[in-house]
Amino acid sequence: MNSLEHLQEKVNYDKIFDCVQCGYCLPACPTYETMERETHSPRGRINLVKMVAEGKASVEDLRDPIEKCLGCMACTTVCPTNVQYGQILEGAKEVIEEHDVKSMAQKKVEAFLFESFFPSSNWMGTLGNATWLYQKSGIQKFVQTTYLTALAPMRLGRFERVLPDLPSPFERAFRKRRVLPDYKLRTTVAFFTGCVMDGIFFKTNQHTVELLRLAGAEVLLPKEQTCCGALHSHSGKGLSAKELAMTNIEAFDLEDVDYIVNNAGGCGAKMTEYPHLFEQGTEWHERAKEFAAKVRDISEVLVELDGLTFTTPVPRTVTYQPSCHMTNVQRVSEPPRMLLNNIPGLKVKELNRPDFCCGSAGIYNLVNYDESMEILDLKMIDVIERKPNAIITTNPGCLLQMKLGVERHGLEGEMEAMHLVDLLMEAEPAAK
Ligand code: SF4
Ligand code: SF4
Repeated sequence: MNSLEHLQEKVNYDKIFDCVQCGYCLPACPTYETMERETHSPRGRINLVKMVAEGKASVEDLRDPIEKCLGCMACTTVCPTNVQYGQILEGAKEVIEEHDVKSMAQKKVEAFLFESFFPSSNWMGTLGNATWLYQKSGIQKFVQTTYLTALAPMRLGRFERVLPDLPSPFERAFRKRRVLPDYKLRTTVAFFTGCVMDGIFFKTNQHTVELLRLAGAEVLLPKEQTCCGALHSHSGKGLSAKELAMTNIEAFDLEDVDYIVNNAGGCGAKMTEYPHLFEQGTEWHERAKEFAAKVRDISEVLVELDGLTFTTPVPRTVTYQPSCHMTNVQRVSEPPRMLLNNIPGLKVKELNRPDFCCGSAGIYNLVNYDESMEILDLKMIDVIERKPNAIITTNPGCLLQMKLGVERHGLEGEMEAMHLVDLLMEAEPAAK
C-alpha cells in the first residue's frame, strides 16, 4: 500500500463522497459561526480532508481546522446525506497523530493528561484524594487568596476554582460494588463510573447508584472497568481507545445485566460507538455490538423503570444545557427533560439554542482556551436571558465548563451549574 492509499484508508476516503457540499450544516457549526472561515466549517473540513487524501494539500494544512473542530456533531444532525463526519474526523486526527504535526498546545495538554492520568481510574481516584486534602488542609484557600493559581500551566488555575467539594478517601475506599433495591427488583444493571466523573464528581456517581436502587435496580460496579477511551479517540490515539474498549467489554461481560448505565454524555456516546473500533466480521466486533446495545444514559433507565416519586418540591428556575454527544451521537434528548418536568415546584426554561455546544468538548477548552471561551460566552448570553438559578447538565466536561461560565460572568450566588442527578436528589426521591 503506498502512502496515498494509506492516507485514504485512514481518513475513510469513500465516506467523503457522501458530502454533496450543500452547506446545510454551516449554520449548525459553532466554529464556523465564531471563526467565520470556510476551512473551519464541516463542509470545509471535509473538503480539506479529501484534498489531503488526494495529495493536493499537506497533512499540516489539516492541523488547525481539525484541532479547532469541537467534535460536537451538530453538523451530522442537519446533514441531508447522513455524512459520517465523526468517522472522517477521527481518521483525520489519526493521520495528524501519525505525521506528528500537532500544535505545541495540543502536545502539551496530551502529554500532561495521557501520561499522568488516563486510562488509570486508580490515578483519577488518587487525584481526587489529593484534591480533597488540598481543599480540606487550607492550602486551597491560601493558593486562591495569594493568586498562585495564575501560575498553574494550561490555565488550569481557572478550572481549579470551580471544582466541587471532593469526598474523603474513606468514602471512596468503602464504596459498595453491589446494591439492591429495598422493594421490587425490576432490573439488574452495571454502572460505568467514568474516570473524570469518578475522580471529580464522585458524589454525583453515588447519587446515580442511589437513584437506580430506589427505582428498583440491582446495581453492580465492575471493578476492572476503565476509561471509555473518548479522549484518546478524539486525540487520534485510536489504538489506545481500542485497548480501553476491550478492557471495558471484558469487565462488563463478566456480569449478566440488562443495561450498562452511565451518567456522562461523552462516555456514553463513545461506548455506543465501540463497534466502529473493530473490523466487521471479527469476534471483537460482535462483542462490541452486544456491549453497545446495552449502553444507556441514566435518564433513559429512570424513565423506563418509572419507579421513582419525588417527595419534596424544588422551588428553582432551571435551564437545561444538553451534552452534544448525548443528543447528537446517543440521540437521547427527551428523557432528561421528562425527569425535570416530573420534579414538583421546578420551573424549566428552555434555552434558545440548546443544541449549540458549550465549548467544553473533551480537552478542547484546555488546548483552545480562547476559542472555547468565545463559544462559552455565546452560550452564557442565552443562559442569562432565561434568568435561571441553576444550569442543569449531563456530562462532566459540560458541567465544569458551565461552572466556569458562571464564575467568568460573575454570577456566583445567583446561579450554579449542577448535574441532573444531583437536582433529582434534591427532590428527595422515593420508590413508587
Ligand atoms: S456535510 Fe452534509 S450538510 Fe454539510 S455540506 Fe456535506 S452534505 Fe451538506
Ligand atoms: S463537529 Fe461541531 S465544530 Fe466540528 S464541524 Fe461539526 S458542527 Fe462544526
